[in-house]
Amino acid sequence: MGNIKCAKCGAEIPENAKFCPACGAPREEEKPQPKVQKPKSEMNPSKSIQEWIYSFFTEKNMFIMIPLGVLIACIGGLIYLFSGSITVLRAGLIINIFGCLIIGIFLLMCGITLKDNDKYVRLGMIVGGVILLTWTLSIPA
Ligand SMILES: [Zn+2]
Repeated sequence: MGNIKCAKCGAEIPENAKFCPACGAPREEEKPQPKVQKPKSEMNPSKSIQEWIYSFFTEKNMFIMIPLGVLIACIGGLIYLFSGSITVLRAGLIINIFGCLIIGIFLLMCGITLKDNDKYVRLGMIVGGVILLTWTLSIPA
């Protein structure tokens, strides 16, 4: 950045001068360019995924999705238990696995995203989520 031109008379003003040497007008402060904030999604795709994760795996959603997952898993389990045919049994098992997946994913992800919780609670959630996911995914549907 070199000299700038006086806004009044057009003479060059040295960088360190506060006033125009020709006409004495105060040097116009170079206004810092207003930073045009690009939408964050355009700036960095991985960042927006992270933001999405953090806005999705919230405590509020966790308290909705985990009971929902338990409910789905229980329904699947009941269908499984009282199934009369292999098709219904499989359907029940898949529903049960689906419910367990929801619980597992939310335990795991909320264990990572929830900053306020006690670290042991979060660690427990992550471990529980991993165990549940591993167990669920190891069941042949
Ligand atoms: Zn001037």
